[in-house]
Amino acid sequence: MSRFLAPAYHNLVPYTPGEQLNDRKYIKLNTNESPFPPAPGVCRVIDEGRMRSLNLYSDPALTALTGSLAESFGVSPKQVFCGNGSDDVLAFAIMAFCGKGGTLACPDISYSFYPVYADLFGVKLTQIPLAEDFTIRVSDYVGIGKNIVIANPNAPTGLSLSVKEVETIVASNPEHLVIIDEAYVDFSNDTCVSLLSRYDNLMVVQTFSKSRSLAGLRVGFALASEAIVEDLNKIKFSFNPYNINTLSITAASQAMREQAYYDECVAQIVAQREKTKKRLADLGFVLTDSKTNFVFASHPEKKAEMLYKALKERGVLVRHFNAPRIKDYLRITIGSEEQMEGFFAELTRIL
Ligand SMILES: *Cc1c(COP(=O)(O)O)cnc(C)c1O
Repeated sequence: MSRFLAPAYHNLVPYTPGEQLNDRKYIKLNTNESPFPPAPGVCRVIDEGRMRSLNLYSDPALTALTGSLAESFGVSPKQVFCGNGSDDVLAFAIMAFCGKGGTLACPDISYSFYPVYADLFGVKLTQIPLAEDFTIRVSDYVGIGKNIVIANPNAPTGLSLSVKEVETIVASNPEHLVIIDEAYVDFSNDTCVSLLSRYDNLMVVQTFSKSRSLAGLRVGFALASEAIVEDLNKIKFSFNPYNINTLSITAASQAMREQAYYDECVAQIVAQREKTKKRLADLGFVLTDSKTNFVFASHPEKKAEMLYKALKERGVLVRHFNAPRIKDYLRITIGSEEQMEGFFAELTRIL
């Protein structure tokens, strides 16, 4: 730490991203990326000389991107806010609506970035314990009188609330914002976008990083009321008006026109996920009923940390969280058929 860091940040504990190692070739199942390349049309628009326009600033209003998102989701472009990954969107939202003395509630086991943002922006965070089986108890959030962020499906548990359950939470907290982080929603059937027309305190956040095979592009978005999006833009234009670059805008807009390709990728990942669950169960693992592109698994006899290390030594990366309640679990991203075969070959040998 230099002597210049503002005192407010001295105790900040940053988010720890999953390992991105390149000391050797890994079967990489640790950060929930898609094993499939972006849609052919997306690769084409990136290749096709978009570089020529990089002497100009990107469109700060993001007209092309908000337009294609609005069309796909059947909302007004004024209800769409885009960011440099959904992390950027979540940061703007937590800054705008919970910042400096505001409140935020989230599950105790969830996306580990939420507490970091709360800390960074001076938010009073309440972490609500999941039930013993890792489910979110809806009643804990009913009329809680705080802003709420819930990943649905939740990570790293993979478990999903139904739209009806989310509605109960949203309807009972009309004076607070409920952020539903749908990073994995395309692998489930539980998007809450349909609730937006009835609730002005709901924000649905999604990303291009998982189901759309574009983690490296860094694009995410929020759908919410026009007033909420206006507030987010107020913050954005006070901080970083050109928050998405021209190539990302072009490629993400194109991705929204490639739904058939992405539907096929998602179908393959979901099929592979169910197969993976069964094979892990046959090896003695206990699993949650994940509705995402990863599984969350614990072995009654083998320590998860040992398995994580042994797999890594053999060139397979999975995620292990050294945190209370989940330190006996591994989060394993669903890769391609070939990657999963490689994973099971090594795992079987270790066991
Ligand atoms: C991956 C993930 C994100 C971040 O996605 P980016 O769009 O790549 O920033 C947000 N929330 C959850 C729950 C995630 O798992």
